[in-house]
Amino acid sequence: VHKAKLSRQHIEIYSHSDRDPAELFSLESDLRIAVANKDFVLYYQPKVNIQNGSVDSVEALIRWMHPERGVVSPGDFIPLAEETGLIIKLGEIALELACQQAKAWQDEGHPLRVAVNVSAMQFHQEDFVEQVLDKLRQTGLPPKLLELEITESVVMGDVERVKDTMTHLSQLGISISIDDFGTGYSSLQYLNLFPIQTLKIDRSFVQSIESRTSQAPIVSTIIAMAQTLGLEVIAEGVETEEQVDFLWKHGCNLVQGFIYFRPMPAEQVISKIIALPALTKS
Ligand code: C2E
Ligand code: MG
Ligand code: MG
Ligand code: MG
Repeated sequence: VHKAKLSRQHIEIYSHSDRDPAELFSLESDLRIAVANKDFVLYYQPKVNIQNGSVDSVEALIRWMHPERGVVSPGDFIPLAEETGLIIKLGEIALELACQQAKAWQDEGHPLRVAVNVSAMQFHQEDFVEQVLDKLRQTGLPPKLLELEITESVVMGDVERVKDTMTHLSQLGISISIDDFGTGYSSLQYLNLFPIQTLKIDRSFVQSIESRTSQAPIVSTIIAMAQTLGLEVIAEGVETEEQVDFLWKHGCNLVQGFIYFRPMPAEQVISKIIALPALTKS
């Protein structure tokens, strides 16, 4: 078995199964078929403003509806999609589904902004801006209801090109967030060079707040830095009241995490947001 060629995720998925080793390779062919058939759905996780309990934006998180395995999480196939280049098609599918859904919500009188995760390979495509524009045109979604989440890895590389792409997107009215902020290796210079609206504090920092190896000072520093630079800041992976209190105390009003909502199918989003109890902290 050509184990060396397999990614860790690849092995993890199958290591607990009693399947024939030859089936180690079926994931890739399954994924190819799934991409061709568009066997994916988006789940949505609200971003909650803890100042007033409002939700303006939801993050779209892709799920693979596998005929035998059921719902497969992105951690189990995105790495393989990136290795095989299938991420390009997958990214297009996600963008299209998200724009359609956001447009449907807008038409129903609920204009939610939808945040779509974009991988580095996808972002660096020559015609990425045109692809995004195409989806907006096809669905009729206004650009201001679209947000793109990119990681610091996107920012590395050809700075001028990245800047041009971001500037173009931003001039269209699309907002850009830096996902998993603080976990990458990029320099901080780009924060001033690029038109970025939001920093998303990685959940590893957030979840360490109450632990013995607390990274709480990093969380408060990111919040302060965002405020100084005039950027929005949101904490991801928030699970406890204690984390919410810490974030609130340090001036981070936007929160995403299981404490309020897990990612959910589109049909549930509006009723759950409306039912959100008043969260007013002040
Ligand atoms: P991400 O963009 O950083 O998304 C946040 C992940 O954290 C999601 O996992 C979400 O379900 C999870 N999460 C949210 N709140 C909590 C919490 O309170 N506790 C814990 N433990 N986890 C929480 P998910 O949906 O499995 O997605 C994992 C990653 O897969 C995403 O990380 C993103 O990098 C990638 N991904 C998801 N959808 C897409 C997509 O359409 N395109 C691309 N390129 N990547 C995607
Ligand atoms: Mg994200
Ligand atoms: Mg993230
Ligand atoms: Mg993350």
